[in-house]
Amino acid sequence: MPELPEVETIARGVHERVRGDRIVQAWFSGFPQPFKTPPEKQAAGLEGRVVLGVHREGKHIVVELGNRQQVGEAQWIVHLGMTGQLLVTTPDGPVAAHTHARLSLASGRELRFVDPRRFGRLEFRELHGSEGFGAPGAEPLTIVADEFAALFRHRKLSIKAALLNQTLLAGVGNIYADESLFRAGIRPGKRAGRLTRAELERLRLSLGEVLRHAIRLGGSSVSDYVDADGVRGFFQLEHCVYQRTGLPCLRCEAPIRRILVAGRGTHYCPECQR
Ligand SMILES: [Zn+2]
Repeated sequence: MPELPEVETIARGVHERVRGDRIVQAWFSGFPQPFKTPPEKQAAGLEGRVVLGVHREGKHIVVELGNRQQVGEAQWIVHLGMTGQLLVTTPDGPVAAHTHARLSLASGRELRFVDPRRFGRLEFRELHGSEGFGAPGAEPLTIVADEFAALFRHRKLSIKAALLNQTLLAGVGNIYADESLFRAGIRPGKRAGRLTRAELERLRLSLGEVLRHAIRLGGSSVSDYVDADGVRGFFQLEHCVYQRTGLPCLRCEAPIRRILVAGRGTHYCPECQR
């Protein structure tokens, strides 16, 4: 499943390639599952609009669309789900199986949404002057210390479960939860409400560091991942603990352990994390 850095990388890549372009025609597959807005309604809303920009909100990709004949601005919201891909191609590029949307652009390129498992979602919204789509949780890259500490105050669940809770923080998944807890020296099973202010601040900084590092590397998902040009094969981030069960800790050489926390495989160093 793409995590925040992958979604950020894709959003940036699509932004660079389609900003300022105009959607000439929109085609959608007949499959009902990928659409939060009926395909006919999406097509009618998208055609003729100019792409103002593309950005990430939590784990959603938001395509900002300009005015068209005085009907105001709109958004096209793409959630990649487990296997979704948003690709910028030429129209003669081979159409992958499970392509659910093709937007023809005035530049001659196409923006395509491909999703074999169909857990992804496509939505179209007219803004009517409203602010538009916002992810439910706080943004981990910009959250400040007080706000971060307040998220976990009095919480009885484990810190790992709290990090994965999308209503608290948007976009943090299993890999970056484990990696940031290792860097902060905190046991994943520790109760969130028991963390000291100093620990929480270490965790906030570590989380920001691992996410930014992964974004610089272009995302590090170990599952299906293709960037905006359809190039597969982003290198994997050098994980310190994630999926390194039994291997020596990079800091102290103690074997990395794997346990279940919040139902998820969780990796940590028994010496470095307390
Ligand atoms: Zn260690």
